[in-house]
Amino acid sequence: MFSWGEASIELMYRGRAWVEIDVGAIAHNTRQLISLLEPTTELMSVVKADAYGHGAVTVAKAAIQAGATALGVATIPEGIELRKAGLTAPILVLGATNKPDQVESLLRWHLQPSLCTPKQALIFSETVGDRRVLPVHLAIDTGMSRLGVRWDEAKEFIQLVQGQPNLEIVGIYSHCATADDPDPSMMQEQHRRFERMLDTCGLREHNCKIHFANSAAAMSDASLHYDMVRAGLATYGLYPSPHLKARIDLRPALQIKARITQVKELPAGTGVSYGHRFVAAQDMKIGVIGIGYADGVPRSLSNRVTFSIKGQPVSQIGAITMDQMMLDVTHLPDLQEGEIVTVLGTDGDQVMTADDWAETLGTISWEILCGFKNRLPRVTKNRSLWDSEAVVSA
Ligand SMILES: *Cc1c(COP(=O)(O)O)cnc(C)c1O
Repeated sequence: MFSWGEASIELMYRGRAWVEIDVGAIAHNTRQLISLLEPTTELMSVVKADAYGHGAVTVAKAAIQAGATALGVATIPEGIELRKAGLTAPILVLGATNKPDQVESLLRWHLQPSLCTPKQALIFSETVGDRRVLPVHLAIDTGMSRLGVRWDEAKEFIQLVQGQPNLEIVGIYSHCATADDPDPSMMQEQHRRFERMLDTCGLREHNCKIHFANSAAAMSDASLHYDMVRAGLATYGLYPSPHLKARIDLRPALQIKARITQVKELPAGTGVSYGHRFVAAQDMKIGVIGIGYADGVPRSLSNRVTFSIKGQPVSQIGAITMDQMMLDVTHLPDLQEGEIVTVLGTDGDQVMTADDWAETLGTISWEILCGFKNRLPRVTKNRSLWDSEAVVSA
């Protein structure tokens, strides 16, 4: 089997900018999560939004091979993509589905919907008809106030679904609103509501999977694990909150790289990029790179972010444009066009994480990761761990 070493990736991939996904890190993080769980508790890897920008098929394969037993997506097309790639694990659609044609897709592609309202349950049952059975998960709202039936109204809902012989309840779940908060009191209140609901609904003895925890809840409290946990962010190697860092060892799986496309001298007083929001205070040298906000580097990071070249920090200067941006490289006299810039990731002593960007921008790492959509090609590192297909997937 041919395997691509890290050096050969750089040789074969000569694009302007790209995303590197380390499937070894995905596997490592998956195993770390599993190490928190009882042997009977399953891990669902949440790969919605193209696996938080990492590539859903790549991540799903690596996670399943490392021991995850189920996959979570947000939409039916996301589930179909996984099925078409040959993944056979149970796939739960976490988002809303409510039209008859969607029921046909769920059946055809063996995807499990989240049932969130009595009306949806009735439409589903009618569409499924007498000769087929659709496995479903019941979504219970214990305090997120998003999808699902409220915990204190769940009993009638569950009885309604149980009365539909063509809907098979294979799971019942809820979702935490505050699991990443160091103060666990609201999460505990949601847990109490969930417990009360389970007691009154008699589903504990029923052969269905009970699940409650996202990454943060899974990492903070084993009593929230039940039959399965649903981990997104931690799979990608980021901590939902700094206070959870001591729990397990996670490694970011995604790096962003770009090449220097032009180097030039600027005399003092020269403005840089749209709006001249940066003006050279003295003579300087700048490097241009071919990556911009259309690739997922938020424009609001303009003038506020540091990248790395050969382990040396370089400041981004001027407005980030759609496809390009400029760097201050005055301190790198030997810099050549074609040199690789680490935009996000680790380069020697320089460590730049999605958490750093999120903190600068007042957002969360989840949003930063999801910003890297398909325009950047994805280069997969350590892919030989699980197969030998082409390295470049986009
Ligand atoms: C996205 C999502 C998850 C995963 O959340 P993380 O915080 O990324 O682990 C779990 N459950 C539901 C219902 C979700 O929507």
